[in-house]
Amino acid sequence: MERENAWKKYPEGKKRKEVMDFAEGYRKFLSACKTERECAAYFAKEAEANGFKDLSKLIGTNKKLKAGDKVYLSNRGKGLAMFVIGKEPLENGLNILGAHIDSPRMDLKQNPLYEDTEMALLDTHYYGGIKKYQWVTLPLALHGVIVKTDGTKVDVCIGEDPKDPVFGVSDLLPHLAATQMEKKGNKIVEGEALNILVGSIPLDKAVKGKDADAEKKKEAVKENVLAILKKKYKMEEEDFLSAEIEVVPAGEARNYGFDESMIMGYGHDDRVCAYPSFMAMLSEKAPKRTLACLLVDKEEIGSVGATGMESRFFENTVAELVNMTGEYSELFVRRCLTNSKALSSDVSAAFDPNYPEVSEKKNACYFGHGLVFNKYTGSRGKSGSNDASAEFMGELRGILDKDGVSYHTAELGKVDQGGGGTIAYILGNYSMLVIDSGVGVLNMHAPWEIISKVDLYEAYRGYCSFIKNA
Ligand code: MN
Ligand code: MN
Repeated sequence: MERENAWKKYPEGKKRKEVMDFAEGYRKFLSACKTERECAAYFAKEAEANGFKDLSKLIGTNKKLKAGDKVYLSNRGKGLAMFVIGKEPLENGLNILGAHIDSPRMDLKQNPLYEDTEMALLDTHYYGGIKKYQWVTLPLALHGVIVKTDGTKVDVCIGEDPKDPVFGVSDLLPHLAATQMEKKGNKIVEGEALNILVGSIPLDKAVKGKDADAEKKKEAVKENVLAILKKKYKMEEEDFLSAEIEVVPAGEARNYGFDESMIMGYGHDDRVCAYPSFMAMLSEKAPKRTLACLLVDKEEIGSVGATGMESRFFENTVAELVNMTGEYSELFVRRCLTNSKALSSDVSAAFDPNYPEVSEKKNACYFGHGLVFNKYTGSRGKSGSNDASAEFMGELRGILDKDGVSYHTAELGKVDQGGGGTIAYILGNYSMLVIDSGVGVLNMHAPWEIISKVDLYEAYRGYCSFIKNA
């Protein structure tokens, strides 16, 4: 089965510009939003600007929702659900676009700051599946929040403004790396070696010995860092205990290639699906079925916890909607979930000409071939995969073909080569129709990942088509 390169639909000129303009909006979003909190805040703000009302302010009032109403609900600032109420009763089910907004990174430990040989460092615990050796010798930024005991929150973002300092993890010089280079890939850089260098000047007072106790003299560089944190962020060392600070690659996402057909950026996985899903939700004003967009956290560590897909957040929100669109009934909630259809979007491993041996060419994802569907992901005999139904795939083919959306199908690598999970099976637990779909990525889970702009655009077009016609 041959599939056309999607760029052929967009010759230079007005058509090509559509693709490039959409990608530029995405590039700016990706550069600005590097954590799940930043993504959730961005989407909430954009939703408000596009007429979506905050559901948390309506729950518990007598307000009823009617066809055409648009609402969103934040899940503790780390996830977001959006809905456009359809003409049909909620019982008939939702058309759902789901994606995750967390990305692999390093998180500061709870007690991170220490001094070693007159250098101050922050200890980290990495988040998600990373090749640790890829995260050294790069400019890194700190993004996150510090919560004080009185509940006040300080937003942290250091390393993105060109005037800001950056941080990083050091690596051995080749001259002294003989032993290191003999090690297996997963041992070249060990998890406990992912320490962020943050300072090297000792505190003046401690050096001079004035008012400095023995401890401060001993760790004067660390004390100096603490003095800076106190001055700039009104932060004490104890405040790290209630902070969530993520260490991510510093700098903007960039156009990639002579033809600028691609974008290199941090966190395409899975913001390259979240962004077009969100944008598609703005495209439909008066849908037949109710539309939902779910942007979730914690996918990279198994979709667990209050803000992951496994939480009851989505189900509870649907119950609130059933209550607000008519008479509440648990049966209606269940029917709504069962009768729903979902594109569970996540990135796919794009075919890499440098590593052809991991893919099976007929069933691989390719740059420039548009939206990609994974009937199943999983590994070792499809273990853990959602395995979407032929009926649903047939319906989707009909919808996308009619609108001329470029799409193809793929597996995550050759049989028994590896595998991966997504949020699809969790939606599948409601017995709704769900399939993995998304956009191909090169360098997946590396600090800088790459996507094709036309795949992003076809994903957007595919999502618009799906929510309108499914
Ligand atoms: Mn993902
Ligand atoms: Mn991932």
